[in-house]
Amino acid sequence: MALSKQRTSDFAWVQFLKWAKANDYTLLECKPYNSVHQVHAPGSAHYDDCRHDGTTYSMGVDINWPSGGSEERTMLTRALPVAQSLGVAVTYALKGTAGSAANHQTHLHADPFSVSNLGQGNFEQPTGDATASRMQAALRFDPRQRDNLFGSLSRKRGSAVRMASRMHGGKHPHGIAFTQRVIHAEPTGVWDEQSMGKHDRAVSRIQKVLDLPRTGTWDEATEDRWQAFLKEHGR
Ligand SMILES: [Zn+2]
Repeated sequence: MALSKQRTSDFAWVQFLKWAKANDYTLLECKPYNSVHQVHAPGSAHYDDCRHDGTTYSMGVDINWPSGGSEERTMLTRALPVAQSLGVAVTYALKGTAGSAANHQTHLHADPFSVSNLGQGNFEQPTGDATASRMQAALRFDPRQRDNLFGSLSRKRGSAVRMASRMHGGKHPHGIAFTQRVIHAEPTGVWDEQSMGKHDRAVSRIQKVLDLPRTGTWDEATEDRWQAFLKEHGR
């Protein structure tokens, strides 16, 4: 067993691993990507497992960037807000080499437990959640883009579905073809039956993330929850 309490859900943890894998990071000492060696301290997170969607995942990972060097530092630094938004604890010598960060200057350790260290000593990892990445999945982002940081492209894709819905298919601030790509319809540029059907299913996926009945219609309850979602998760 790991030495500290699990702070984020198995789902959020696996989401982080999938994001890192899809973005071409090297994931070491972590099942199912590779095997875990008996080189870690007793009680290390690497020795714990969780089961998610029929796959066994280790509860610790050591992340590298294939080319190393200064590019590695840039890329590992880029992974930090993704991990932390999901409540994933990280050890990496970003701001110094205090404590365990001394051994984490060329790789980043992550786990779903509670202690982070960015180089200035241990601190309690704040809780995160994976709602924004679930919304990104509902908006048909590919796994590489599901960073749980609901930035401008996420807002743009969300607003395409919202505006199409509120204006009954009559308004597309980013063009009809853009909306069609977000809802996985053929990007023909013509709003047809197929677009309407796929659009309703997109609204229904969004409603599921917002914990609402899946009516497929962007009603006032959907609008209220969407605005609250943006306030909480938008960047
Ligand atoms: Zn590690």
